[in-house]
Amino acid sequence: MTAQSQRYDQKAAKINLKGLTLLELEELVMQWGEPKYRAKQLMSWLYRRRVRAFETMTNLPHQLRQRLANLAYISEARILTRTTSNTDTAIKYLFELVDGSRVESVLMYDQDRITVCLSSQVGCAMACDFCATAKMGFFRNLTAAEILDQLITIERELDNEKGVTHVVFMGMGEPLANYNQTVKAIRLMTDANALGMSEGKITVSTSGLARQIRQFAGEQLKCNLALSLNATTDADRTRLMPINAKYPIDEVLDATREWALATQRPATLEYVLIRGVNDTAADARRLRKLMGRLPCKLNLIPFNEIEGADFQRPELNQVERFRRIVAEGHHVAPIRFSKGRDIAAACGQLRTIYEKQGAMLLSDS
Ligand code: SAH
Repeated sequence: MTAQSQRYDQKAAKINLKGLTLLELEELVMQWGEPKYRAKQLMSWLYRRRVRAFETMTNLPHQLRQRLANLAYISEARILTRTTSNTDTAIKYLFELVDGSRVESVLMYDQDRITVCLSSQVGCAMACDFCATAKMGFFRNLTAAEILDQLITIERELDNEKGVTHVVFMGMGEPLANYNQTVKAIRLMTDANALGMSEGKITVSTSGLARQIRQFAGEQLKCNLALSLNATTDADRTRLMPINAKYPIDEVLDATREWALATQRPATLEYVLIRGVNDTAADARRLRKLMGRLPCKLNLIPFNEIEGADFQRPELNQVERFRRIVAEGHHVAPIRFSKGRDIAAACGQLRTIYEKQGAMLLSDS
């Protein structure tokens, strides 16, 4: 048996306290004959003081600490590599999970914002033609704890008091295809007893799962939603993003509109500009028209070249021309070429994230 699987087996028998909601923690402590308020105390140790060992939880009775040590554990993310950009504005983290799979997260600095870009799955099943993660295929969903651990571990490394100010689900995976764990992670990020972040500082980016977008609209969460549109006709979009065959543009825009109306927040549309594929003036005019259908703003993302895809980034003047046409009718974030490109060189997806985030930072301030 490898050390890896031993570690897995050992932990499999125990309950991970990280990732449990307050309600779930309350049920757990009450099963053990403890008063309900122990759950809040535990949450504070887990998410505020962030201790790793039960014996340090000094306000819990000895017997409970003992029981926790026998039956529970607190998960940790293991950092495999950490790569800093030349300009020190981005750090790429590669994490190894308990089963040996690997996911990436990125920490980005932009003026007074500190943003972490999280993965929601190992790989991705959406098969978008231009995306590096898609080339890996899909392995599995992350648990809420694994999503939170990326954030908590990165935050632990920060040497400023403010901590992480913004979270974006733009790393590996399709967050709405891992719906329950993603929503659970967001609830723990925003629960005042847990991480206590404000909902408005969290952005979920989706390839356009219309059914889940509608479901998300009903969650009473005031966070942001970004829809990766990336094309203006169904034929083009289906070619780039196979999910469009299931949820065509009309349907996904309707769902996104419902979300915007339910949450009273403008949606963000993301549009990756690919030379000769979706960057014509006719595309820009169609996009302008589509944007009229819902309260939204636009982030234009010049394509980042990745291995295994025969696409190119348009010339800068083409990007500008596209932007100008759409901006006649709508809010378009200024296009920014990102930080951290040097460290992303080995990984197309990470470059993606940096680019994208560069644009996001300006649009939703
Ligand atoms: N699955 C989610 C989140 C991950 S992708 C989604 O599709 O939104 C995050 C963003 O990166 C998406 O807007 C996607 O269109 C964009 N993206 C993917 N590959 C890219 C590339 N090579 N260059 C630029 N942006 C890319």
